[in-house]
Amino acid sequence: MKRRNFLSFCAAAGACAVLPGMSLANVARPFPKGMVTFTFDDGIVSNHRYALPILKSRGQVATAGIVVSRMLSGNDDYMNVEHVRELAASGWEIASHSLTHSRPTQIPKTLAQEPVSGWHVDERDPARYQTQYEYERIAGLYQDGKPLTEAPSLEAMASCQGCYWLDRAIAELHVRPLRGGDPSTLDILAGSYQREMEQSKAMLLELGFDVDTYIAPHNYWTDDVEVLSRRSYARACTGRDSDNRPGTFNAHAIRRFMVHEKDSAQALARIITDHSLEHGGWVVFCFHGVGDKTGWEPYPADKLDQLSAWVAEQGIPMVTVREGAKAMQAARQNDTKQKTIAKKGS
Ligand SMILES: [Zn+2]
Repeated sequence: MKRRNFLSFCAAAGACAVLPGMSLANVARPFPKGMVTFTFDDGIVSNHRYALPILKSRGQVATAGIVVSRMLSGNDDYMNVEHVRELAASGWEIASHSLTHSRPTQIPKTLAQEPVSGWHVDERDPARYQTQYEYERIAGLYQDGKPLTEAPSLEAMASCQGCYWLDRAIAELHVRPLRGGDPSTLDILAGSYQREMEQSKAMLLELGFDVDTYIAPHNYWTDDVEVLSRRSYARACTGRDSDNRPGTFNAHAIRRFMVHEKDSAQALARIITDHSLEHGGWVVFCFHGVGDKTGWEPYPADKLDQLSAWVAEQGIPMVTVREGAKAMQAARQNDTKQKTIAKKGS
């Protein structure tokens, strides 16, 4: 389906607006052919190089999950800000895929849990401090709000100012702070998952991207993270099991089908047939790299092209995560309304 047909599809399906006089048959199945969404995680440059032109040739759009620190890293495996702007200008949705791609179990969960305490001066070097660190990973370390840099080793810390090194084997965190003094006044924070969500969104907004969707790194999700995500995001893709159908839709637990390198276009088309064409459901695929060797399980460009062509031939609406979720929520509300009317009438 071409982009320009999406709104007329919504109107016909009664999904994007609650239309007066809608029949119960429409309510039972608001999306006659279902919907399909392609998401691309990690902001890999091949999304811009291969996926964008393939989808653009058929007027199709997708959602890109951007890891903000990678976009700004200068590493040319990842899209830079200009690449991402080009996706947005072509109608793609830009979503946050966090700041540093951490799991919520690897770092502090909330801002309140960020302060690192227990510091004492390192006897071997009085400019250094150390403490025990209870988390597996550091998603940014900050002193007085300023980021510290990660040193490659304990020895390398001799020549850097404002740096840290985590000895993972014994969970010992070493820091050579920007400002020394009494160990109890160092004011050092370790980035939390709440920061991953909130700051990545703030930075993307600052760059001019319209962001209200979160895509969980590693599809890792917990109940308390879901509660946190509701503060900043209208919706989240989480890898949780849900059927993405109007009756049970949870916008903060959008289910995605993981796409593997070896999956044929036919196998993916079968998933769409089973869920979208036969049941009017919404299929959301999770791709990473496309067309080259970069990223997790990169999907061959010719197979992506075949799948995109098949979706277009079938006339199945291809939507962004934002569009799909809004349509599902509208259908759910409408369903509830109709049930209330039917109840009152009975
Ligand atoms: Zn990822």
